[in-house]
Amino acid sequence: MSWLSNIPPGIKNIFNRKEDGSDALWTKCNGCGEMVFQRDLDAANQVCPSCDHHFAIGPTERMAMVFDDSKFEDIELPDPVTDPLKFRDEKKYIDRLKENRRKTGQQDAIRAAFGKIDGASAVVAVQNFKFMGGSMGMALGEAMLKAAETAVEKRAPLIVFAASGGARMQEGILSLMQMPRTTIAVQMVKEAGLPYIVVLTNPTTGGVTASYAMLGDINLAEPGALICFAGPRVIEQTIREKLPEGFQRAEFLEEKGMVDMVVRRSDIKSTLARLIRVLLKDRQNTGASQSKPTNVVATIPAEKPATGTAKTKKPASPKTPQKLDKAAE
Ligand SMILES: [Zn+2]
Repeated sequence: MSWLSNIPPGIKNIFNRKEDGSDALWTKCNGCGEMVFQRDLDAANQVCPSCDHHFAIGPTERMAMVFDDSKFEDIELPDPVTDPLKFRDEKKYIDRLKENRRKTGQQDAIRAAFGKIDGASAVVAVQNFKFMGGSMGMALGEAMLKAAETAVEKRAPLIVFAASGGARMQEGILSLMQMPRTTIAVQMVKEAGLPYIVVLTNPTTGGVTASYAMLGDINLAEPGALICFAGPRVIEQTIREKLPEGFQRAEFLEEKGMVDMVVRRSDIKSTLARLIRVLLKDRQNTGASQSKPTNVVATIPAEKPATGTAKTKKPASPKTPQKLDKAAE
């Protein structure tokens, strides 16, 4: 037990900047169990300085990190019918929504914005895991369509930061319908000859991985992110076998070809900027509809070999050309 847990609550409160405790002076790292000074964590984009564990971050921090000078313009998202099934479990769905709206200051689990990444226009949509586990409901489907339409209208790439527990059960079949809807949104961007890039963050699971989150021209992932349809515990219970070490984590999926690159948070902006430049140039040169399958991922280290932080595939890997080939169809 840490000596910090023995401090009486009254004294602890003095050190807390906010009454909800979320902005305390110290935070316990889920990766190494150490107490990390919050100011160090803030300075390192919420990455543990001791073990490199990537803490979850919300849309505001993510957008501030990705857009130039932290400047961006929010895209107004449609407001679909609230609680059409009048669903109730332990709590009424409508009450859960109100509570999460109050907690996050957001209307639903996604936020979209338009801005510049290293000078290039981009539409960025970020899921918020703190809002009902980033679950995919009608609001998210509408938001993805709106973000895709904005990308097409502004001739800008669409970048999605995924973080989700899956479909929102409180909306039943209506939430599952967002899988084909978001897929259509992605298709719209691809048909317009614009890049669609996904950054998978911890955790991205369920119906979200079965739709827009795995359809990127390039799929990036943050280190250690859990990316799966059904979680490891469910699989172990079903097949009654022990799963391999690191199963369904970003690095494992990269090795198996499901993820193109595992990128540290501090390198995400520069990686996105390079990918946008390469993908747009490639499409302009060859025409969007018949663009040749270029091994874009393999060209990244050639441009900037010194960083060494963004893991990339060997040029010989057959997976990436096939994947891009498919995306270019
Ligand atoms: Zn740590």
